[in-house]
Amino acid sequence: MLDYAQLCTAAREAVFLASAVCREVQASLDELKAITKDDKSPVTVADFAAQAIVAKVLSDQLGEDVILVGEEDSKWLRQEEHATHRQATLAAVQAVWEDATEKDMLDAIDIGAGDTHHAGYWTLDPVDGTKGFLRNQQYAIALAYVERGTPVVGVMGCPNLPSDFSAPLDVPDPHGCLYAAIKGDGVYAHPADDAGEKPIEIRRLDHVEGEPISVCASVEKAHSNVNDTDRILEYLAERGTPSREPTRLDSQAKYAVTGRGQADAYLRLPTRPGYVERIWDHAAGSLVATEAGCFVTDIFGNALDFSHGRGLEKNKGVICAPPRVHGLVIGAIEALGIGANT
Ligand code: AMP
Ligand code: MG
Repeated sequence: MLDYAQLCTAAREAVFLASAVCREVQASLDELKAITKDDKSPVTVADFAAQAIVAKVLSDQLGEDVILVGEEDSKWLRQEEHATHRQATLAAVQAVWEDATEKDMLDAIDIGAGDTHHAGYWTLDPVDGTKGFLRNQQYAIALAYVERGTPVVGVMGCPNLPSDFSAPLDVPDPHGCLYAAIKGDGVYAHPADDAGEKPIEIRRLDHVEGEPISVCASVEKAHSNVNDTDRILEYLAERGTPSREPTRLDSQAKYAVTGRGQADAYLRLPTRPGYVERIWDHAAGSLVATEAGCFVTDIFGNALDFSHGRGLEKNKGVICAPPRVHGLVIGAIEALGIGANT
């Protein structure tokens, strides 16, 4: 049997280092945009660099046969016309992997070209919430180990997420948070910039009847149906559960914010028929929230099933909430017929 604690230690180390790299890239956003003459290139550089670092750490610690399904591959970066991006990515990688060569980096990125047809695999979103990254708001480095369709280890670095609930979520925090979860063993929070700091266990309370709920959702209106969110909240308010104005933030940080009790639900409601959620957008975050005491399912109340390739083919949308709110939201979705056409 696999030693989950050992996998979690390797994943934590990988995500700590990748978070440091992303932070460095973010500190030079304007400089990078100027060099590459491209407004989106900082996130490209951070994506590739974070994937290279995570792959390097996992294969160093767990062996070269590690199976990693990453969002990126090196094809684009290897092309001659992308030499400037390649050099910028190498510079970012060298912040924590000092003697990396261009070849080392490109080969490491391609460790992430694994496929999901194994009893166990790692999945990585090197920079989840790219729009948040570009706005210097919330983004996440999300890494999970999935065994027979279920995430069993999940680590999520949120370099801009404040640990203090009173701090605004749209202003980058100087330390950030990192969450590490093992199925059945809880979830622990660390500062994202200090691997030596003692972790704190995260466990949220369930919702109390009649208390207003706060929900969180994507900033990007194309990623979650705003209209259906409003319908659900109106339905619940009419039946004794009022809500506050939804908080909008990018990335899987929404799972952490709900898991730690700062929000009472993360609603991701389908915007268009046919969109299939990506495994790396949910594997780490869903385990973090589950281990903190939330239920995480699709909009029909079915468990997320990570055993169908790179997409959650058997699921539609995501509802993450503590048990009582989860039940209320699923009931509202059913009563309103949301998702019937997706
Ligand atoms: P978020 O930061 O929560 O808005 O989610 C970002 C993720 O949304 C990206 O990593 C994409 O994989 C994913 N995404 C892209 N298009 C859609 C869509 N139509 N519906 C839901 N998610 C999407
Ligand atoms: Mg993503």
